[in-house]
Amino acid sequence: MSFSSDVKDELRTVIAPARHCRLAEMQAICRLQGGKPVERKFFTIREKAFNIDADQRDIRNAVETFTVGTSCCRRSYLRGAFLAVGSMSDPARSYHLEFVCRSEEQAETIRKLMQDEQLHPGITRRGSRTVVYLKESGEIVELLGMMEAQRSLLAMENERVLRDVRGNVNRRVNLETANISKAVRTASRQIDAIRFLTEQGIEVDLPESLRKMAALRLKHPEATLEELGSLCSPPIGKSGVNHRLRRIVELAQQKGFK
Ligand SMILES: [Zn+2]
Repeated sequence: MSFSSDVKDELRTVIAPARHCRLAEMQAICRLQGGKPVERKFFTIREKAFNIDADQRDIRNAVETFTVGTSCCRRSYLRGAFLAVGSMSDPARSYHLEFVCRSEEQAETIRKLMQDEQLHPGITRRGSRTVVYLKESGEIVELLGMMEAQRSLLAMENERVLRDVRGNVNRRVNLETANISKAVRTASRQIDAIRFLTEQGIEVDLPESLRKMAALRLKHPEATLEELGSLCSPPIGKSGVNHRLRRIVELAQQKGFK
């Protein structure tokens, strides 16, 4: 089953306790499905909100004329709207929730209700339909909460955490790869500089500490600065090694090394 249909299954089990909220949800389903509701939740609520022998016209009238005024009813309307024309992508893959409406007026109603609940939906045309959508994961989570899809909300939060962790791991791996290739480039430039000095016969003129460092670098081309430092006698620190290798490259540059 898709994430979207799981959300709908959950929403079908949520029965608003107040009659006003039930009317709001019925109204959303009825309107958005073009006056002929097929969503089974409509009939579930009808059974709970009206007597078994209630007149069909009375029911239709009560549902059609109801005015959504308060937050509880706005949220119930959105729940009905999602059941009628909503869908969302699997949060393991992407963040997208939408209501596909037959008319611009219906879409505007949904957008307004969401805005009144401090959400920031987008709206767009898709063929003959008008689509109201959310793309921001935090807002999708909020809407799931407003519609009382607690289980789906938690499932989405879990996915979000996993995605964040994966993202962090990838970022760290990328950073380390970048650092390693930078170190490799630096080391190979040092080696080129030392070879240049040797070829020019200048290496012998270097101070002893630099000559020893140059020899160590040539012998251990893949060693880190720390490792080179520990090979010195007496051992020196990373910044000392760095300083000496930079001096070598600078001296080579002064003699024409590019
Ligand atoms: Zn209400």
